[in-house]
Amino acid sequence: MPRLTVVVPAYNEAAVLESFHARLSRTLDELPLECDVLYIDDGSSDHTWALIEGLRARDPRTGGIKLSRNFGKEAALTAGLDHVDADAAVVIDADLQDPPELIPSLVEQWQAGFDVVYATRTARAGESGFKRLTAALFYRSMERLSDTRVPRDTGDFRLLSRRALAALRQLRERQRFMKGLFAWIGYRQTAVYYLREPRQAGQTKWNYWRLMQLAIEGITSFSTAPLRLATWTGVFSSLLAFLYGLWVFGKAVVFGDPVHGYPSLMVVILFIGGVQLLALGVIGEYLGRNYAESKQRPLYFIEEQRPAKAQGDAGHAR
Ligand code: UDP
Ligand code: MG
Repeated sequence: MPRLTVVVPAYNEAAVLESFHARLSRTLDELPLECDVLYIDDGSSDHTWALIEGLRARDPRTGGIKLSRNFGKEAALTAGLDHVDADAAVVIDADLQDPPELIPSLVEQWQAGFDVVYATRTARAGESGFKRLTAALFYRSMERLSDTRVPRDTGDFRLLSRRALAALRQLRERQRFMKGLFAWIGYRQTAVYYLREPRQAGQTKWNYWRLMQLAIEGITSFSTAPLRLATWTGVFSSLLAFLYGLWVFGKAVVFGDPVHGYPSLMVVILFIGGVQLLALGVIGEYLGRNYAESKQRPLYFIEEQRPAKAQGDAGHAR
C-alpha cells in the first residue's frame, strides 16, 4: 500500500493540538493508505512537546521532532520534509485553518498523477479587508516581478509526491520562501479549492511586520527586478536632471544670473539623495541575503526525535 506522511509544524499550539489530531486521524482512518503523522515542535515555550509525546503514546502512527529552538515555520517545515520517507507528504498547519478533511481530495489528485497538489482557499473567513488587500497586492507584485508563478490564496497546505519531495530537498537556501520553492520545482501541479476557516484557538504568529518581512523575502528570493528598478530610477532621474540643467543654463544665458534658485537646488539635492538611499537599501537587501547564504549554516537543529512506532493503515489506529 502507498505510504503517506502528514507533516505538521507546531509552535505553541497546545491549545488546539488535541482537537487537531482527533480530526486528522479521523480523516486518515478513512484513507486507503498507510498513514503516519510527523509533528515538528518548533521550539514551543508551552507544553506542545509533551502533548506530542502523549499523542504518540496513544497513537502509534504519530512521530515527533523537537527543534533546538524556534527556527520559524519555514525551517520547521523543512525539518519535517527532510525526515519523510513515504510516497507522498502532506503539509498542514496545526491550527485547523487547513481542514484535514481535505486531505482525501489532495490524495485523489495525486493518484490521478499530479506531483504537487495545493489547496487554494476560495474565501478568507475571519480576515480583515486590509489583510485581504495587502495579500492581493503581494501576489500581484510577485506575478509582475518574478518568473515563478506563486499560486494565489494558497498557503503551505499541500501534497507532494516522492519526486517533488526529492526535488525540494535539494533546495538548501537559507532564505526559505516555501510557497515560492514549491512552485519553483515544477512538475505537474494542480489546485484543490476549499473554504479557509478562522483560527480555532491560540494566536496567529503573523503580525503585519512579519508578513511584510515575508513579502520582501518572497520578492528578493525570486526576483532581481528591484535591483533593475534602482538602475532605471537612476537613469530616469539623471535624464530629468540633465533636462533641468539645460533649462537653468538657457535661462541664465537669456535673463542673466541673479543669485536665485535655492529652493529648486534643495529640491533636486533632496530628491537625488532620496533616490540614492533607496537604491543603496535595495542593494543592501540583496547583499544581506548573500551574506546569510554564504555562511552556509544548517537550517535547523534537532533536540529530540521520536519516530512513529507504526505505520497504521485504515482502521488500525489506536
Ligand atoms: N509555526 C511554526 N513556527 C513558527 C510560527 C508558526 O512552526 O515560528 C506553525 C504554527 O504552529 C502553525 C503554522 O506554522 O501550525 C501556521 O502558523 P500560524 O497559524 O501562526 O500562521 P497563519 O495561519 O496565521 O498564516
Ligand atoms: Mg494559522
